[in-house]
Amino acid sequence: MADLKKYQMYIGGERTDPAGGEWFESFDPYTAKPWALIPRGNADDAGRAVAAADDAFTTGDWPALTASARGALLRRFGDLLAEKAEYLGQLEVKDNGKLLAEMGAQLKYLPQWYYYYGGLADKIEGSVIPVDKPGMFNYTRHEPLGVVVAIVPWNSPLLLATWKLAPALAAGNTIIIKPSEYTSASTLEFVELFEQAGFPPGVVNVVTGFGAEVGEPLVAHPKVAKIAFTGGEMGGQKVYETAAKGLKSVSLELGGKSPNIIFDDADLDNAVKGAISGIFAATGQTCIAGSRLLVQDSIHDQFMDKLVAFAKTARMGNPADLETQVGPVTTQPQYEKILSYIDVAKNEGAECVLGGGPASRPECGDGWFVEPTIFDGVDNTMRIAQEEVFGPVLSVIRFKDEDEAVAIGNDILYGLAAGVWTGSIRRAITVSERLRAGTVWVNTYRAVSFMSPFGGYKRSGLGRENGQEAIREYLQTKSVWISTSEDAPNPFVIR
Ligand code: NAD
Repeated sequence: MADLKKYQMYIGGERTDPAGGEWFESFDPYTAKPWALIPRGNADDAGRAVAAADDAFTTGDWPALTASARGALLRRFGDLLAEKAEYLGQLEVKDNGKLLAEMGAQLKYLPQWYYYYGGLADKIEGSVIPVDKPGMFNYTRHEPLGVVVAIVPWNSPLLLATWKLAPALAAGNTIIIKPSEYTSASTLEFVELFEQAGFPPGVVNVVTGFGAEVGEPLVAHPKVAKIAFTGGEMGGQKVYETAAKGLKSVSLELGGKSPNIIFDDADLDNAVKGAISGIFAATGQTCIAGSRLLVQDSIHDQFMDKLVAFAKTARMGNPADLETQVGPVTTQPQYEKILSYIDVAKNEGAECVLGGGPASRPECGDGWFVEPTIFDGVDNTMRIAQEEVFGPVLSVIRFKDEDEAVAIGNDILYGLAAGVWTGSIRRAITVSERLRAGTVWVNTYRAVSFMSPFGGYKRSGLGRENGQEAIREYLQTKSVWISTSEDAPNPFVIR
């Protein structure tokens, strides 16, 4: 244990040991060996972090800052983040095993969120309402909620923390980040940059540990106003239930089982790349994975030949190698879950046309690798079509025509994203309208931006991240009435 990097939490601007004096190991998925020690937070740590964040929200420099000054701090933070992006990207690869090619690009793009919401900070404008009451002046203010708790999963730790942090801070809240127990290191290192940028102590805090031990007490704490959660459905439900007891504001970004629909009028070579990026990029560990590939009957055989041939060329190996295309699975439980779903699909009668088990190629070392796997002949009622696997496992489902494609696409409890591949503008527009999903990509897949709203329909979540409307998730509206009348009215009658 001596050579493992030992981290501390970050509360009220100070590095601090966990109250319980315990740490746990963080693993490198490529070597399947521990490399760092993460503080195991508990309810005492949650209480300390909420006290610090509440203090920073109500007293001191933060509430006194103008909105423009808040924006300037966010932009300064963006500059500091840009300088450290490469290092942070490497750190994330060590913890979650995703490709350096992907995490590096993600981290380089991340400052844009702080520039965008920094610019938005002083454009949060209320209105003057021309109320129908003589002798009254009425206006609205959009005010921060207070202490926000951001709960983040392991697949894109700093990206998904940023989707919450940037709008929450621009709106004037203070925040506690609870990263995933599997990938806490990058958040514990990037939080220092807030201090360097000049944010007052307590505005941004990080507590680490397990959902039940430190996440729950944070969500339940009476001084927490809002929870912004990204993660699995079970965790999301639990957070929603706990938050309901305190009548707190909640936004949830949950899982998906997104349809990626290939029509016979599509450019098939591009559609093959879209299908691959929908499921094998990030080793399928992405909420927006296009894990249900709907292929029109008339092109099915031709398309499958191209798809399997392309997928066979995917280079597996060390995620830190820029040439690698498919890396390991992030956690051992996830690795086991994916393999068990492969068995489920085989038992259900789906036809395995590629992969279908653990990867034992020499370049995969001892890591948690699963072969890119494709099941053909899947029926949409099968478990492999209905449940989120969160791994490199694709279910191919055939359809006859547009109506059937839309019906199958929507026949799912989730509604995070969908893909449509077609050469017809009419079809692009009408099918996008008919699909019940928060994001629809046409002739592309997996595009996201700080400027464009992201979130789920149905069980994929509540609320939106990114874009201008996301800032509303961190604000509440106050209506101010001022009498301009010299006379006091009849006190026994509502005005
Ligand atoms: P998870 O729900 O197990 O954990 C997510 C976070 O919630 C972790 O920090 C965990 O410690 C915390 N947590 C768990 N239970 C909690 C509780 N009761 N109270 C407070 N905190 C709790 O999810 P995961 O396995 O880390 O992530 C994978 C899931 O995340 C997948 O289902 C995926 O689809 C989803 N995801 C969604 C999006 C999106 O934007 N919609 C993005 C990425 C991942």
